[in-house]
Amino acid sequence: MESKSSEFLARSSEAMRDEHLQSVLNKLRAGLEYKRKAAILKIPNFEELKEHARAVKDHTLANLDHYLEEFESSVIESGGHVHWARTSADLNRIALEICQKAGALRVTKSKSMIAEETGLNTVLEEAGIEVTETDLGEYIIQLAEEPPSHIIGPAIHKTKQQVIDLFKNHHDLGERELESVKSIVDEARKVLRDKFCNADVGITGANFLVAETGRIGLVTNEGNGDLTATLPRVHIAVASIEKVVPTPEDASALLRVLVPSATGQPITSYVSFFGGPRKQGDPDGPEEFHVILLDNNRTDMLAGEFRDMLRCIRCATCLNHCPVYTSVGGHAYGWVYPGPMGSVLTPLMTGMGKAHLLPNACSSCGRCEEVCPMGVPLPDMLRQLRTIEREQGLTPAGWRWGLTAFMKLLQHPRIYHLGARWTTAALKRMGKKRGSIASIPVGSGWTKVRELPSPEGRTFQDLWRQKNRKGASGNE
Ligand code: SF4
Repeated sequence: MESKSSEFLARSSEAMRDEHLQSVLNKLRAGLEYKRKAAILKIPNFEELKEHARAVKDHTLANLDHYLEEFESSVIESGGHVHWARTSADLNRIALEICQKAGALRVTKSKSMIAEETGLNTVLEEAGIEVTETDLGEYIIQLAEEPPSHIIGPAIHKTKQQVIDLFKNHHDLGERELESVKSIVDEARKVLRDKFCNADVGITGANFLVAETGRIGLVTNEGNGDLTATLPRVHIAVASIEKVVPTPEDASALLRVLVPSATGQPITSYVSFFGGPRKQGDPDGPEEFHVILLDNNRTDMLAGEFRDMLRCIRCATCLNHCPVYTSVGGHAYGWVYPGPMGSVLTPLMTGMGKAHLLPNACSSCGRCEEVCPMGVPLPDMLRQLRTIEREQGLTPAGWRWGLTAFMKLLQHPRIYHLGARWTTAALKRMGKKRGSIASIPVGSGWTKVRELPSPEGRTFQDLWRQKNRKGASGNE
């Protein structure tokens, strides 16, 4: 998918002005945080589970080549095929070749962030193949011709009415009306059932690749993954290389951390493991089974300072707790992965040139690392990317000079304190009448969409000095 991350500032300003989006994001902020909290409170040993999941990932990453080769051998042993894709273009080409060889005209797809990453749908459609997303959220945004705005809930930004309007425009509803959520789901089910039954190829993602068995693990709440994997003649699973785990028990260890963090459930409605083509006597399953493994700069990450990012299990917890993501939404980030994890992954995968603004979309609150079940040190990585941005001369000149001047000021505490006192006094005077300041000459970006509250009471420095004086006199 083409990156539009360089438009981050314009897109975020637009998102902040979008009242409808803001009301959706407010609900999301409260709802998802609460669900996760409630779910993990019910798991007494959640801390131990997290430690174990991290240990599994660290061990696998330290031996990634070994487990990938083991996975490949296991898939071949069970009659399947493994393809290696260094780039997004490689993955798209391989998937298209498999579809063309199978004479495919219709493809069903279950949710896959890797297919989003490579822009697979566009490539298949340009070759004349009809592609249907079968996850309800993905189906909705496919009709809307939009990218996902959240890695777990791709259509989380859409209201019920917007979905009804989309279905009215794209489905032959006749006299029927859609009013309730149930009627929307029933409508989607009716349309998608036909697609499932007539698909030649099914393309799924994979939450895990199990080296020992050559199976791929898939978690869904709608069962669409199972229908995509088992009904068509050919099943293609697309996955990135770090999805491999040594054994089914290790997949289970990650699953127990992933699901409560992602959706607040103890377990998803469907947890399925697929592998190999249909054997004699099997009631269902594809005639061909292919796995395409994508690198897309991940081996560089493995060898460098951003290796810990490969521990990410795409649970979206960092998005749901990020004050920036929950203010601007996913589309502002301009590529597949939004929020804190996206602000690290996007520059590493699409290049700093296009995405250097994203690591600055951070309030340095540290919440993302605090809630990440895999202990990914996101704030450190964002800081490191900002250093790289500066080293590559990508930081805007005004910002660079401003920070240099601020650094010099901090090196002279007397001047800093004097300046702070004058500024506080000036701001107090400016906001005296209203209690807030509508516009300030320096940093006008702050007051474009909000008023700056005027300082109240005494400054921290004054209180600190007073406390120290009291302490000193008390000791005498
Ligand atoms: S970085 Fe952590 S919290 Fe964010 S999606 Fe990945 S595993 Fe989840």
